Amino acid sequence: MKITRRHFLKGAAAALLAGGAAGVWAGSERPTEEKPAAALPLLPRRGIHVFAGGQDVLPALERLIGEIAPSLGLNWVILEVGGGFQYISHAECANPNPLTKADARKLAALARGKSIQLVPMYNCLGHQSWHADVGPLLRAHPEFNEAPDMDPTAEGFYCMSWCPRHPELKPFVFDLFDELLDAFEATAFHVGMDEVFILGQCSRCKGTPNATLFAEAVNDLHSYLVGKRKVEMQMWGDRLLDAAQTGYGEWEASANDTWPAVDMIPKDIVICDWHYGLDNPEFPSIRFFQDKGLRVWPAGWNREESIRRFIEVARKESGPLMLGYLCTTWVDTNQIVKGLAGETVEETRGRRRGNVVAGVKLGAELARGTAG
Ligand SMILES: [Zn+2]
Repeated sequence: MKITRRHFLKGAAAALLAGGAAGVWAGSERPTEEKPAAALPLLPRRGIHVFAGGQDVLPALERLIGEIAPSLGLNWVILEVGGGFQYISHAECANPNPLTKADARKLAALARGKSIQLVPMYNCLGHQSWHADVGPLLRAHPEFNEAPDMDPTAEGFYCMSWCPRHPELKPFVFDLFDELLDAFEATAFHVGMDEVFILGQCSRCKGTPNATLFAEAVNDLHSYLVGKRKVEMQMWGDRLLDAAQTGYGEWEASANDTWPAVDMIPKDIVICDWHYGLDNPEFPSIRFFQDKGLRVWPAGWNREESIRRFIEVARKESGPLMLGYLCTTWVDTNQIVKGLAGETVEETRGRRRGNVVAGVKLGAELARGTAG
């Protein structure tokens, strides 16, 4: 099942950062010396990011949007759709049993009724495969592969990228964006763009600095989404941070020279600044992106200490450009929704879903200012 494999999208990063068992916590209440909850203001954007894999998660998505998110005070839901939608323009880009346009419309109506902003997401540039497990776009269109000669089964290979300079790529993916924007009646779109490690390999891109290639890709997407479609563009922020300078490491920040792109992109992009560990507990990126004139949306995951500290810094650095807090999940949406509803979660030997559920609850409470 696609979602199962996608569980590990950020697994390597998380494992490195969490140091294995150090990342496990019980999620129970703990004594605190913080101020009473009522003293803390509500952060404006309180979001959750989940996989929207297809028909198998549709009931869970309905429950999430219609009941769970409102009960947690969450007002933004980012749906990582990718191949989970029945595209008409390029039907070959859908996985089996995808969400239909009617499903999307139903979710959009539910969200509207609950005053929730629903944001479709399509991973752009990177994350076109998980190792050798190729996503639907490159599976159907290998001509878009940036590095077809690389062996995805080789040690250290992470995810395939598409070629941002392929002459047919942009109109192709913009067709997909159009369908998602229309079906979900969206006013914002998330383009992913995290953990891009393969750049500058093909004959079109070779010799161009990675920062230029990355900025070019961002600007192309921005021209279409913001310029033409007039929607908000959101993206993950890791490639715009200097790993050496921030101390975040090569997953949460860039050690492959993409980071100077931060000065080459429009200021109206919303940067989803994800950090799941405590490699740098000062979380300097929250201030950094604001100083660059960009809106920053801090995004945490499953470690109590990290979530608490991250939101503490976010509140301390809070200005007009600091948007709130985004809970990420990275495990099966069906299980997350069950857990958030208070039902028993089926645990696996890998990621502890219970910790993710607890992380979402804690993040939502801290973002509302209602957790101790
Ligand atoms: Zn290329």
